[in-house]
Amino acid sequence: MKNLSMGLYCDKGEIFMDQIQKRRLIREKKQKRTRRILASVLILVIIIIGTIIVITACSTKSYETSDGFQEYAQKYFEENERTQEVGKLKTDVTYGIPLSNAIEYPVMKNQITNAKVADIVKTVKNEYSQQNAGKTKEDKVALLVDYDTYKTTREVVGMAVFKNQQKEDGRKMEDAGSSVDTYNFSTKTGTALVPNQIFEDNYRKFCSEYMTKYFDDKYGDKLVEEAAKETLSDKDTNFNKFVMTGSGVKFYFDKGKVVDPEEGVVAVDVSYDDLDGVIRDKIAERYLDPKKPMVALTYDDGPHGPTSNRILDCLEANGAVATFYELGQNIGLYPEVLKRQAKLGMEVGSHSWSHPNLNTLSPGKVKEQIDKTNGAIKKAIGRTATTFRPPYGNSNANVEKYSKAPIVLWSVDTLDWKSRNADSVEAVVKGVKNLDGKVVLMHSIYDSTAEATERLVPWLIQEGYQLVTVDELTQYKYKETPKDGKLYGYNYFYLDNKK
Ligand code: ZN
Repeated sequence: MKNLSMGLYCDKGEIFMDQIQKRRLIREKKQKRTRRILASVLILVIIIIGTIIVITACSTKSYETSDGFQEYAQKYFEENERTQEVGKLKTDVTYGIPLSNAIEYPVMKNQITNAKVADIVKTVKNEYSQQNAGKTKEDKVALLVDYDTYKTTREVVGMAVFKNQQKEDGRKMEDAGSSVDTYNFSTKTGTALVPNQIFEDNYRKFCSEYMTKYFDDKYGDKLVEEAAKETLSDKDTNFNKFVMTGSGVKFYFDKGKVVDPEEGVVAVDVSYDDLDGVIRDKIAERYLDPKKPMVALTYDDGPHGPTSNRILDCLEANGAVATFYELGQNIGLYPEVLKRQAKLGMEVGSHSWSHPNLNTLSPGKVKEQIDKTNGAIKKAIGRTATTFRPPYGNSNANVEKYSKAPIVLWSVDTLDWKSRNADSVEAVVKGVKNLDGKVVLMHSIYDSTAEATERLVPWLIQEGYQLVTVDELTQYKYKETPKDGKLYGYNYFYLDNKK
C-alpha cells in the first residue's frame, strides 16, 4: 500500500511536477506573448510616428514660424526654374499672421528702372493686403513672387513678374490664384516701354491671326472658345502682356483666358523672324498716349552753358523733353547748347533778342527783336523758333504780327527767378493738384532751377506724367496745331477750361 501509495505519491508527485512545469511553461508562454505583443505595439507606434514625421516633412507645405516661412519660400523659389539674365536677385520677406509674403526682385544698373521695380513691389504688396483685408488670425495666406529677366539685342530688358497666392487648407498650402505682369525696360532711359514703342501699329492684328492659329493647332479641344475669341481679338487691351527676349517676344495669357484653366498661365514664343515687319527695327524713343497725363516744362532766358547742360543731362537721362525759350544775344555764346537741344528732340523757341518789354517798343524794334533771334537760332540748328515767348509775358498786336510763330505763355509759375531755391520750386510744382495739360515756367540760368529739375523730372515720370514739348502738348491735349501769330495765353493751358 505504502509502495503503492508511495508509487501513487510518486505518481502524484510526478503529476504535480508536470503541473508545475506546465504552469511555468504556460506562464512563460504568456509572458513571451505579452512581450511579443508589446514589441509589436512598440514597433507599430514607432512606424506610425515615423510615418507621421515623414509625411509631415514631405507633404505639408505649411509653416509655423518666421524661419519656417523663409524655408518654405526658399523651397518654392528653388522649385520654380526661372530665367534671370539681368539684375542682382534680392528677396523681400515679411512673415505675419494671417498674411505673409516673399518677393524676389532684380536690382539693375539703371536707377530709373530700379525705382520702377521698387514701385512694382510696393504695388504688388498693396494689392495683396487689399485683396485679403477680411482675413482673420485663423487664416493663413502667403504671396510668393518671382521673376524672369531677359537680355536682348535691342536695348531692352524684358521682365515678367509671377505672382502666386496660396492659402492654408488643413495643413497644406494650396494655390489660390496666380498671374503674371510684364515689363520691357529701355536700357537707354530706364523707363518701362509701352507696346507702341516696340511694335508697329499693325501688331495686334498680326498677333490675333498668329495666336488664333497657334492655339487652334496646339490646344484644339482644350480651348475655352468664348474666352479665347475675346482674348485673341485685335482690340487695344489685348496682347499687352509680353516680354522681349534674346530670340523673340514671349506673349503671356492668363489662366483660363484662352485654354483650360488647368494649363495655368500660357506663354507663347514668337521669333524675331516671324515678327519681321511687325516689330520696330529700332525702339521708338517716344510714344505719347493722349489719354495719359502730359506736362510741358519750359525754360526761359538761356542758353547758359553750365545750367542749360545740367538740365539737358537730366532730361536726357530720363528720356524726357522740354521747351527752351532762348535769348538771341546768348545763342552766340553757347551755340553747342542749342545743337544739343535739337539733337535730343527739345523744342527750341525764341524769347526775343535782349529781353525787353515788347509793349514799350516800336513795331520796327519788335520785329527786329524777333527776326534777329530767329537768325541766330537758324544759324545754330538750321531752323527758326517753333514758338515764341515774349519777355514778361507781355504781348500785343505787333508781337502777334511779327512773331512768325505761335505765342506761348504758361499756366504754372514756379517763381524760380525770385526764390532761387530748389525746395521752393519743387514745392510749387508738387503743390499743383493736377499738372495734366499744364505749361510750367522756369529759367535755365539758375543752379537752383537745375537742381529742382533733377528732383522733379523723375518724380513727374513716376507720377505717370509724359513730359512733352509745348508743341506736342497743344496737339495731343488740346487737339490744336499751334498757329503762327496766335496767343496761347495764361488761360489756355488748363484742360478744365476746355471741357
Ligand atoms: Zn525771361
